Amino acid sequence: MRSHPSTRLFIIAIDGPSGAGKGTVARAVAASLGYRHVDTGAMYRALAWKAVHERLKLEDESALATLARRAVIEVSDGVVRVDGHDVKEAIRTAEIDKAAAAVARQPGVREVLIRQQREIGVGGGVVMEGRDIGTVVFPSADLKIYLDASPEERARRRATDPSHASGTGNAAVQDVASALAERDRSDSTRKASPLALAPDAVLIDTTGVPVDAVVQRVLALAARRR
Ligand code: C5P
Repeated sequence: MRSHPSTRLFIIAIDGPSGAGKGTVARAVAASLGYRHVDTGAMYRALAWKAVHERLKLEDESALATLARRAVIEVSDGVVRVDGHDVKEAIRTAEIDKAAAAVARQPGVREVLIRQQREIGVGGGVVMEGRDIGTVVFPSADLKIYLDASPEERARRRATDPSHASGTGNAAVQDVASALAERDRSDSTRKASPLALAPDAVLIDTTGVPVDAVVQRVLALAARRR
């Protein structure tokens, strides 16, 4: 029996660099559709937090992959826990920004986390944000969005983000901008699933665009695919 198209639960992939607005947009789109919001960046951050906590070398692929296999990471709908520890705030620091990007370069780590992300999203009804959701995790996602913004705007957003430790308003936007540029470079040049625009993704430049307008655009695109 064919299910009615309007009742089908979508997988919506939202990719893009830091500060492009993925988190805010993904959360709002998920809330509007009654879908789960899954922040895959928080998975890499939670694992990085655990690796730093256990004083592992961030270049040690085999130790990190073993850690990834045994760590229990929970990230659905705003909760971020690793092995039962609430790390929601602890993972939003400049130290974990860097550590997460280092951990995410390791193919052995990605293999484990990508498998978990597929298990979480397989039934649909999910808005999953990250760097490689539309390219690698769910190449056949129902809707792929790639959010971007100018480097200046992304740095300004990060510097004033109250959920991030560098977002106290005191962080020099210039320092945040150079850390972001370094992370962009690491994320887009790594061998294992680099940040890239999927050929069938809709690119939305959020520079100077109010969040609500971006959310409405994504919802309209989702409605059109029903
Ligand atoms: O999105 P967020 O900045 O929280 O992601 C933290 C880091 O995790 C990124 O710099 C990136 O290296 C990595 N990441 C990734 N693949 C994803 C999500 C995040 O490599 N799907």
